[in-house]
Order: sequence, then C-alpha cells, then structure tokens
Amino acid sequence: MTIELTNSTDTPEHAELRREVRNLCDQFGEKYWQQRDLNREYPDEFVATLTKAGYLSALIPTAYGGLGLGITEAAIILEEVNRSGGHAAACHAQMYTMGALLRHGSDEQKKRYLPEIASGALRLQAFSITEPEAGSNTPDITTFAAKDGDHYVITGHKNWTSRIQQSDLLMLLARTEKRADSPADRANGISLFLVDLREVRANQPETLVVEPVRTMFNYATNQVWYKQMRVPASALIGEESKGFRYVIDGWNAERILLASEAIGDGYWFLDTAVRYAKERSVFGHAIGANQGVQFPLARAYTQVLAADMMRNRAAALFDAGEKCGAEANAAKFVASEASWQAGNICLDVHGGYGFVDKYNVERKFRETRVYQVAPINNNMILAFLGQHVLGLPKSY
Ligand SMILES: Cc1cc2nc3c(=O)[nH]c(=O)nc-3n(C[C@H](O)[C@H](O)[C@H](O)COP(=O)(O)OP(=O)(O)OC[C@H]3O[C@@H](n4cnc5c(N)ncnc54)[C@H](O)[C@@H]3O)c2cc1C
Repeated sequence: MTIELTNSTDTPEHAELRREVRNLCDQFGEKYWQQRDLNREYPDEFVATLTKAGYLSALIPTAYGGLGLGITEAAIILEEVNRSGGHAAACHAQMYTMGALLRHGSDEQKKRYLPEIASGALRLQAFSITEPEAGSNTPDITTFAAKDGDHYVITGHKNWTSRIQQSDLLMLLARTEKRADSPADRANGISLFLVDLREVRANQPETLVVEPVRTMFNYATNQVWYKQMRVPASALIGEESKGFRYVIDGWNAERILLASEAIGDGYWFLDTAVRYAKERSVFGHAIGANQGVQFPLARAYTQVLAADMMRNRAAALFDAGEKCGAEANAAKFVASEASWQAGNICLDVHGGYGFVDKYNVERKFRETRVYQVAPINNNMILAFLGQHVLGLPKSY
C-alpha cells in the first residue's frame, strides 16, 4: 500500500530497516490477511518468511545467531507488520518473552535453544500465564509444578495460551509453593519453565489438552489443561520461586512492543482514511475537504504521532539500560487509545464501505481493539502509573 505518513524521528539505519521490513510485508498484502481472517487461519507463510529473514530473532544476541538489535529496532519491525495491514500478534511472543530467557536462562538453556530459535528451526511463540480464576491477578494462579526427583509434574488449567499449536517451546508460569497470605510475599513461590513441547507431544501427549478459542478477530488462542505433564528440572528458568519477578522484568519491553503494534495500526488507519478522503467525491468535492472529515483525521494524527514519540523515548531509555517504567506504560496506554481512535475515524471516513470486508477497515478495527485489553488492560497501566509514578495509594 502507499504510505502517506513518515516517521520523522528515524535514523538512516532505522529508516533502512523500516524499508526492508515494509518490502517483506508488501509481498503478502492485505488480501492475504483478509483471507486468513475470513478462515481464521494462522498466517504460517508470513511468519515463516519473517523468521527466515531473521526479524523475529532481532533481540537474540549475534553470538547465538540472532540480529543482536535493541528494543527500538524490534519495535520498528512489529510496527511495520501492523502498518502493512498485517497483524504482528501472530508472532510477537518470541520478542515479548526473549528477555526472560536472555536475562535469567542458564548458559546451557541459551546454548541449546537460542541458535535454533534464531535459525527458525524452533518456534518460541507461546506464553502460558493467565488462568480463568486469577485473571489479571497473576499471583492467584494455581497451576502447580510439584518436584519429583529430577522432574517437575505440572497440573493446572490456563486460558488464553495463544499460539501453543504453532510453537515448539512454551514459557509456562506455575506455582512451586502455595500462595503466601502476606501481601508482600504473594508474588513469591511462582516459577518459570521453558517447556519443550516436542518432547511432550511425542512422549506424553495425553498430559497436554488444548482447546482452541474463537475470538472476534483472527487469533490463535486456546484453553490448555496440563494433566500431570512431566518436565525435566532443567526446564526451570533461573531460580525456583522467582519466576513472577522474571516475568515482571520483561514488562517494559512488552509494553513498548505492544505500543508499536498499535502505532502501526494507527498509521495504517490514517494512511487508509486520508487516501480515501482524497479520492472519494460527494457533493462535487473530495470528502476530505469537509472539516467534519478533515479535523478528526488531523486530531487522530496528533495522537498517533504523540504515541510514536513517547514510544521512541521509552525504547531509547530501555536500550540505554535506564529506568523506563513510566514512559513504557504511558506509551502503551496512549498508543492503544490512539489506534482505537484512528480506527473509529477511518471507519467513519469510509461511510458504509468501512463495514465491507474487502476494505480491510472493519478487520483492522476488530484487531486493534485488543491493545487496550491484552496482554495487559489499560486499567492496570493506570494503576501502575498511579501507584509507582504518582505515588498514590495502592487501589487493589
Ligand atoms: C486475544 C488475547 C490473547 C491473549 N493471549 C495470552 C497469552 O498468550 N498468554 C497469557 O498468559 N494470557 C493471554 N491473554 C490474557 C490476557 O493477558 C488477560 O486477558 C489479562 O491478563 C486479563 O485477565 P482477564 O481477561 O481474566 O480479565 P480480568 O482480570 O477478569 O479483568 C476484567 C476487567 O476488570 C478490570 N479490573 C480487574 N481488577 C481491577 C482493578 N483492581 N482495578 C481496575 N480494574 C480492574 C480489568 O482491567 C478488566 O477491564 C490474552 C488475552 C486476549 C484477549
């Protein structure tokens, strides 16, 4: 598609990376995504092509065969996928989860898995945290990993374990101790595991029950039951009982990447709406000449641009190893609101045609709504900002 708007803060290297990813995405085009959406199919070919080009291993150090890039570059990659009319949620987990493995995985785990993830031989696309009863309150999870000699035996029920059927490796959060009563200790006793699903599927398939969940947009998500699934003790990431801390460590990166997907959507909506507003003529002139059409577009543009800049600031701080909790959370909030607003305007600008699937607007509209909700709800973002940045009392 023709891109009308530019990212003014790109360095020449970033602009080049953006162009390369854009060219790759253009090989697929909107019809491809439309068809996947219609049939609720996983975009296998797209993910394979992105993997082969090395983009999904952006965060893996070069020593392990990855591109050794930072969050800024990873953000550009995911933004471009969404900006092309695609949906990066099909494959973003490899980037979202990488921090936990890089920072807390053992040398042996890294040597064993990272080169194969980087080459595309292994897919790390599934992250199993959320449970039906616990919801946003992760310390309330009850999935339990009981030590049994040199193994753990895992039992529990998770919902929303996305892409488990498209993944060879799974990051899984489970309790290894019962939840403590004291609020200060409630996040302890949870451990993080890197499960080799190939072994489970080959040797103990009955211990892994997966039930796909159909959602309002094309998303490969599932309910999963772990039924005394045995994993070797070597699957534990870092130290036992510290797993939730390791997950929290990755939240800033996740917020920045998620903001980038929403920003990509925001620009797609603006590009698409602006083009249509120039072409569509009613009452003898282009509809974009009407202030009722032009001003909402200009307003949406300011918000996407603001989100873009805030995301860039958060990513720069992250890559410099500085604190960025306020910026990363604010960027996620602003970007998810901006893309939703741009989506609404884009739908309005298209009049009745916005509801017709071949225009892609209704699909992108459904897809972008999730960024306010998952992987973290905007209420939780506001709670973080209220408590940890503004210093207000904890609300829950
Ligand atoms: C498409 C999709 C894919 C997902 N993929 C994954 C995945 O791969 N792995 C995974 O582990 N999870 C995944 N999730 C789960 C996602 O992270 C959860 O939806 C999220 O953790 C919230 O849990 P919940 O849906 O049970 O909402 P709840 O916790 O029940 O919350 C419902 C509402 O109440 C609000 N709320 C609750 N408590 C408070 C409070 N104290 N203050 C203010 N508001 C509050 C929430 O913000 C929300 O608006 C996915 C979700 C979706 C929709």
